[in-house]
Amino acid sequence: KRIRPRQCLPVIPQGIGRSRFFLAIDELSSQLGNENVEVNDKPLDDGWYMEPPNTHDGMAITDEEELVASAVVYPGSTDDVQKIVQWANKYLIPLHPISMGRNFGYGGAAPRVRGAVVIDLGKRMNKILDINPDDSTCLVEPGVSYYGLYEEVQRRGYKHLWIDVPDLGGGSVLGNALDHGVGYTPYGDHWAMHSGLEVVTPTGEVVRTGMGALPGNNTWQVFPYGFGPFIDGIFSQSNYGIVTKMGFGLMPNPGGHESFLYTFEKEEDLEQLVEIVRPLRIAMILENAANIRHALQVLALSGKPRSAFYEGEGAFPREKMNEHLKDHPYGACTWLYFGTCYGPKEARQLKLDIIHREFMKVPGARRIDPAVLPPSDYFWSRDKIASGEPDLEELAWVNWWPNGGHVAFSPVAPTRGVDALRLWQMAKKHWIASGLDFFLDFVVGLRELHLIVECVYDRDDPKQRSTALEVMRSLIDEGAEEGYGEYRTHLLLSDQVAGTYSWNDNALMKFNEKLKDCLDPNGILAPGRSGIWPARYRGRGWEI
Ligand code: ADP
Repeated sequence: KRIRPRQCLPVIPQGIGRSRFFLAIDELSSQLGNENVEVNDKPLDDGWYMEPPNTHDGMAITDEEELVASAVVYPGSTDDVQKIVQWANKYLIPLHPISMGRNFGYGGAAPRVRGAVVIDLGKRMNKILDINPDDSTCLVEPGVSYYGLYEEVQRRGYKHLWIDVPDLGGGSVLGNALDHGVGYTPYGDHWAMHSGLEVVTPTGEVVRTGMGALPGNNTWQVFPYGFGPFIDGIFSQSNYGIVTKMGFGLMPNPGGHESFLYTFEKEEDLEQLVEIVRPLRIAMILENAANIRHALQVLALSGKPRSAFYEGEGAFPREKMNEHLKDHPYGACTWLYFGTCYGPKEARQLKLDIIHREFMKVPGARRIDPAVLPPSDYFWSRDKIASGEPDLEELAWVNWWPNGGHVAFSPVAPTRGVDALRLWQMAKKHWIASGLDFFLDFVVGLRELHLIVECVYDRDDPKQRSTALEVMRSLIDEGAEEGYGEYRTHLLLSDQVAGTYSWNDNALMKFNEKLKDCLDPNGILAPGRSGIWPARYRGRGWEI
């Protein structure tokens, strides 16, 4: 357990006096109940994945006190959320909504503006409002986790329904989709699979999008577009509203599945492999998001710390990696491809045969026979995730350093060999120079690949923390110079990433700011989220 004692008085947001702030807090407590408004005057407890803090980032990459909440409030209904928003407008207090606060590697529950009031939606608004077994849809509140949804589908005995889960199953179904998270069944693009939002706007109105705007409809979760402009997009990765309900399509059980694993020997094999993957993925012969992983992560997935494999300084040596992998069932290699085929045996065998034929064109490629892998092998965790069962195995690699934290560089590229290789070389250069290890995962959505470079550090080592942040900054700039942009980023890197999307004299950010000022004239909702600052904050030294 890592708990920070605190010497200071509770933090309060800038621009409001201490006594007025506490007066405002008393007013909110009288509206929501004392038990639903908590001033953040306790030590900062980092908790762990299943008990994440809601006051700060449990994996802080700068001093914990920099991005810390003044208070946390727990609404129990959409009506409560409206009250909180109206209150914030009255006192000009910044708000930061979270669903469950498990956004690890991207800032966790921390607000971008120090002293903002965190709205922890997940604690009380955690109902599964509907699972429709005929339409294969669901409607959830922010506090519904993948585990929660999975268990409810099982409890109701809906054997014909699957859910789609990301690498870790404890997060919010709604929060993950809002941040463009992905999972590993054919329904892995969570945002694409959503249908319908209920949103509280920054001025306190409630809007339902798509068919949800039609009173008496029975189509909210089956047709996302409704009539008129499709506004859902402005509520993802933004600060234009607080989402209180969200609908999704659920995948039908495909009648069987089979996971597979191939290993590739050399670093350069990445180019040929990605060229093979592209047409297969676009044609959906490769049916789920590809996971092309660098093999160092296999050592970390054992849960053992780095020191169990190597005591030296600097980037983890390749020879050491091979030496340890030799004793592993996967053998010495550089890249691993984890995938899954779906359907009854005959249907999936056709696809598995094509994949085998194509993958084996890479010299030195090997298929790992799942039958030889023990039940504890990581392969079976991927198999679970790819068939819609939540899992936590992925947490193991965070223990690479004591007090492990991680931060990600997540650029998007076309699924082309040259691009994958270029990104790999860029990452490798910084990996070696920084001496901090990187875990790399090329996730092929459909036509694009998201490279996720996780940089791991010791949270109690200020040097490692600042190196990790610096290395991310360099990668973002270098990536942008080559034409690669991030699909998601840490809240401290949002301004920089937003700045790389600068085409036509920053036309996109100008548009975003215009929307922000129109929807949130007092600038109370998540100022700075995704690099979007309200007028009240712009040009006053907040951007970094
Ligand atoms: P997780 O889903 O992993 O638990 P969070 O709850 O931390 O993650 O959500 C990720 C991010 O998405 C948050 O930092 C916040 O900025 C935003 N967010 C989450 N839930 C909502 C919501 N209901 N409305 C608006 N923004 C949200």
